[in-house]
Amino acid sequence: MKSFLPLNIRIDNRKILFVGGGKIALHKIKTVLQYTRNISIIAPEIQDELHEMGFTEIYKEYEKSDLEGFFLVYACTNNIEVNRRIKNDAAAYGIMVNVVDNRELSDFISPAVIKKDEMTIAVSSNGENVKKSVEWRNKIKAMLQHGDFLTKSSEPHKGGYVYIIGAGPGDPELLTIKAERVLREADVILYDDLVNSEIVDRFDAEKIYTGKRKDSHHFEQEAINEELVSQALQGKKVARLKGGDPFIFGRGGEEIEALRQHGIRYEIIPGITAAHGASAYTEIPLTMRKISSSVAFCTGHPVNNIQVPDADTLVYYMVASTVHEVLDAAIKKGRDENTMVAIVQNATRYNQKIITGTLGELRKSEKAVYSPALLILGENINQFIKDNWYSKKKKVLIAGEDTRLYVSEEYIKVLFLSKREECTDCHNHQQIEPLDLDFIDEIYFSSLAGIRNFSAFYKSIPKKITVKTANTEVGDEYKKLFLT
Ligand code: SAH
Repeated sequence: MKSFLPLNIRIDNRKILFVGGGKIALHKIKTVLQYTRNISIIAPEIQDELHEMGFTEIYKEYEKSDLEGFFLVYACTNNIEVNRRIKNDAAAYGIMVNVVDNRELSDFISPAVIKKDEMTIAVSSNGENVKKSVEWRNKIKAMLQHGDFLTKSSEPHKGGYVYIIGAGPGDPELLTIKAERVLREADVILYDDLVNSEIVDRFDAEKIYTGKRKDSHHFEQEAINEELVSQALQGKKVARLKGGDPFIFGRGGEEIEALRQHGIRYEIIPGITAAHGASAYTEIPLTMRKISSSVAFCTGHPVNNIQVPDADTLVYYMVASTVHEVLDAAIKKGRDENTMVAIVQNATRYNQKIITGTLGELRKSEKAVYSPALLILGENINQFIKDNWYSKKKKVLIAGEDTRLYVSEEYIKVLFLSKREECTDCHNHQQIEPLDLDFIDEIYFSSLAGIRNFSAFYKSIPKKITVKTANTEVGDEYKKLFLT
């Protein structure tokens, strides 16, 4: 019975010989190469890839004297007789030999290794079950890359991994803890235009904007699928961040299909859909005892096929340009003219806006509705809506780092993002949505950098906005920039 002792052998300044230049030699050389370049090859012909690696190569048949001066020898020819001769010759010189796939003839065998920086993990079955060693090695490698003790691996895992993530409806705090963790670990984030810039800004990964907003860069769904696949195939941890929930009018299904076609692994992290965000932030319960016991999520597109299901509460997505058609369809289906309707723009955001009225009234209204907007129709749109908890809070824009001054019971904090200037090119840059000062009650300049950044974009501040500054230095800057 052969037994092998695991050792780490010093090899610097010692020469290693490979006899044979085929695929097996190539494979072994790649492992050895992680530790030394002192490698020579003897073979009548060698693999192109080996040739490109630039070792000392001698194109000839093997003979005994070739072994002189070497410390270790790998016999990798495909001829067992030659391998046997190498073994015997090496024994005469006192050189240790590894005969490929032959533990009986070998003085040493190679474990399956993982090498990362100064660390090596070697897996060995004593040469008895090479397949199992390789399997174990691969499992350990995967554990290291996914496990908690090496959260951000600098070596991307093979084949990549995609997280399809719902970012919620807008309020940057309506992101799940799981999504937050994954975004922190991601190599690249592909995000849509409905995702709040404050969320995207919080993470360090490479960022790719895949928004479909009109008049800016146009990313077709097909191109998004391709980008997702291509990023994943580079071995990256990819976060695909979508507004609301990926599976409510989110085309998450199509992205998964593309990933499946390429055998790419993925998982899905749900998000708070716009209907739930709007419901909570406008005080419209989607169901209510005795008034409404069913709810349907519908879409205002395509305009010639608007569905009106038999549910007590109807929520329509994508209505900015089809409000009238949706209301007409509801009337056609027999909904009462007096049914209450609420249109919620920018739900859960500082610039949330609600338009309410009866079905009959809103059909006649000429009020413009801007995207993103939801339409809710049903009897449970009640009296609270005008005076809802969210509308009572002051909206404060904070330019600078320090946000402590403002308690969340009273204020909605909007961060003035300092990377604003980067948004000129949408692709591969962080796209930052424009700010609407009409909705801001107060601005807090918490630092010199903050106020200077702000002044690069705004030359004046509307009178109705209260301005506060962190200290006299910032206060003086404010006077200089905005009051003279
Ligand atoms: N997957 C998303 C919906 C994407 S479809 C979700 O689950 O919410 C885009 C539509 O979602 C918009 O046209 C609008 O109808 C709605 N929407 C998304 N965010 C919104 C918001 N903050 N306020 C109002 N409507 C919103």
